[in-house]
Amino acid sequence: MQSYDVAIVGAGPGSLKAAEFLAQNGKSVIVLERGKIIGKKVCAGGISLKNFKFGIPKSIMEREFKRIIIHTPKQSAVIEHDEPILYTTSRVALGSYLAGEAKKAGAVIKTECNVTEITENSIKIFDKHENDDKKISFRYLIGGDGSASVVRAYLGLKSHAFHQAYQYIVPNTAPISSNSFKDLELFIDANKFGHGYGWIFPYTNTTSIGSGCDLAPEMQKYYPAAKMREKFQQWFKEKFDSKYNFAEKEFQAHTITYGYLGHRFGKSGNIYLIGDAAGFSSSLTAEGIYQSILTGIEAAKQIVNPKYTCPEIQRLIAIKKKEDYYYQLFSHCPFVRNYFYEIVGLLLKNKKFAAKVMGKINKY
Ligand SMILES: Cc1cc2nc3c(=O)[nH]c(=O)nc-3n(C[C@H](O)[C@H](O)[C@H](O)COP(=O)(O)OP(=O)(O)OC[C@H]3O[C@@H](n4cnc5c(N)ncnc54)[C@H](O)[C@@H]3O)c2cc1C
Repeated sequence: MQSYDVAIVGAGPGSLKAAEFLAQNGKSVIVLERGKIIGKKVCAGGISLKNFKFGIPKSIMEREFKRIIIHTPKQSAVIEHDEPILYTTSRVALGSYLAGEAKKAGAVIKTECNVTEITENSIKIFDKHENDDKKISFRYLIGGDGSASVVRAYLGLKSHAFHQAYQYIVPNTAPISSNSFKDLELFIDANKFGHGYGWIFPYTNTTSIGSGCDLAPEMQKYYPAAKMREKFQQWFKEKFDSKYNFAEKEFQAHTITYGYLGHRFGKSGNIYLIGDAAGFSSSLTAEGIYQSILTGIEAAKQIVNPKYTCPEIQRLIAIKKKEDYYYQLFSHCPFVRNYFYEIVGLLLKNKKFAAKVMGKINKY
């Protein structure tokens, strides 16, 4: 049986950053990814400025946006800045870059290895390359395996706070838009998107047009998932072109966990959950790449130095509480929520207010 200081399940952004840090600090690390291609993940690829503090190079970004248009039911607010406010990237490009850095530091990364069983100090994997089951023992285990985490299931934890986010990936040459997807746009309208929002996130050759709904049982009463999905498809059809046969286009959906469940477990505190596995994503924006990287690095720092107290995770939890408050505001009354959105729309037309909001989203 192979043995490592740290075994990491899943090769999401947080796992790869954790692997890099651990290997740089002398730990033997293996990352096990069930997919064939690292980073191939349903995601709109929106990267806020705060991600760059982790050393991600701007050269792997596809598009940068100095203006964002926010649409409420009755108005549109244009937020403009001299510097880019948001970027979009391909998740495969991001995954490939992060995996390269982790490997350079000395981490072992294995694709097509599905983690099927977990015990206190070992995992069983099915290695597709060798068509065989294997056991790997570890001193520490990091569950960076996303919203349907097997590590979380092993710990007996159940998350009830899930978003389901969905998107069409549309070629920029598709005859459906007059502006050929120049701008990054957000749509807030409780009648169409419930608690969530609609988005247009352009990349170089394609554009993600998406939205989401909340799968939490208490939200289902007010915004049933099937209905929200239908409303999104109707909006897409009406907004773009009813002649565009979107049924033939790629429709992708995936869950995002936003209910924090704890991050350190096991009898000796040797099992960590990071990113979506722990429910670190934002309830308000559904952003999760930053949260995954931040919590991956924090877990790795504590493994290297057990006295490290993970202050950044504590800060993130406090921010999540505030986000949950705004997320739930007027949750069961679309009429009042839309009224609130109109006030937000008006305020966003004020440059100072808009700069403050963008500052908060980008720098926390
Ligand atoms: C439609 C959509 C749009 C989104 N847009 C954005 C956005 O614009 N910006 C943003 O910041 N966030 C966005 N998100 C959220 C973001 O994708 C996630 O929050 C983020 O990817 C979570 O990172 P993670 O590292 O926790 O998990 P993931 O990125 O999900 O990585 C988990 C990895 O674990 C692997 N895995 C799972 N189980 C096993 C197993 N048993 N064995 C081995 N490997 C396993 C998976 O294959 C996967 O590669 C979006 C999500 C969706 C669904």
